[in-house]
Amino acid sequence: MTTQSLAYVNGEIVPISEAKISLLDWGFLHSDATYDVAHVWEGHFFHLTEHLDRYYAGMEKLRMSIPYNKAQLTALLLQLVAQSGLRHAYVEMITTRGQPEPGSRDPRTCSNQFFAFVVPFVWISQPDQGLHIAISQQQRIPTESVDPTIKNYHWLDLVMGQFEAYDRGAQTAAVVDANGNIKEGPGFNIFIIKDSQLFTTAEGVLLGITRQTAIQLAQQLGMQVVFGEVSADAFRNADETFATSTAGGIMAITQVDDNVIGDGQIGPLTQQLKDAYWAMHKQPNYATEVVYESEP
Ligand code: PLP
Repeated sequence: MTTQSLAYVNGEIVPISEAKISLLDWGFLHSDATYDVAHVWEGHFFHLTEHLDRYYAGMEKLRMSIPYNKAQLTALLLQLVAQSGLRHAYVEMITTRGQPEPGSRDPRTCSNQFFAFVVPFVWISQPDQGLHIAISQQQRIPTESVDPTIKNYHWLDLVMGQFEAYDRGAQTAAVVDANGNIKEGPGFNIFIIKDSQLFTTAEGVLLGITRQTAIQLAQQLGMQVVFGEVSADAFRNADETFATSTAGGIMAITQVDDNVIGDGQIGPLTQQLKDAYWAMHKQPNYATEVVYESEP
């Protein structure tokens, strides 16, 4: 079966290159949108329920809605992926504010829009390699301004952090808060391991679904998980450190600024968590099967 990236736009499934949205949609003009990304691995969605819960919670907080309940949206996403033929995929669902009535700037007059697309699986970092991260001077938008638990497109801090990281020879960035504590990176949460304990930032970040899975797996492996601030020094001097994202899972970080972490290889606890993470994809209670059209 041939595979192709597809989009769901204006109630239709179309090849992604043919998908069109209005230039006047506030999702585009004002980043007035929320979204979620789930992945499909070996023909199964992973943790779809958790992604949908976060997505609907985000819409509610932003006073947005779509004309589908969770069961209907699940059916729609399954159909989209089945039609794409992609067994390993990145599936994004988006709600935008839409556009206001002509002449109005009142968001209450907007009719919210729903879009989705499926593309081949995206890796922030190749699975067998460690990431080199630069701690950026960029401050993450404060929680008081934009609630980071609503998955959003306010990414200028993250993208400018990426440019800064490239200028410094790193692959990607971690942005900080006003006190210089580590927050998150472009599309991922951050963990450090020190003396066999796991530390992760508790406030001012997206509560990643992969982050939650890493916490659960670490606890199952008997590790203590500490929620709080992660300082830049703690990050640079970690025994091990890793990033978590739907776009790649649990990904080792092997260099922070000029500091090589451990021996520069994927650390043993990170490897254990990573193995457990991918093994979890085969457990039926976390996996939703996509039924593909059979080969002709
Ligand atoms: N932090 C930010 C800012 C993100 O955009 C993402 C995902 O795109 C994450 C963290 C990781 O979240 P998840 O594990 O749900 O993919």
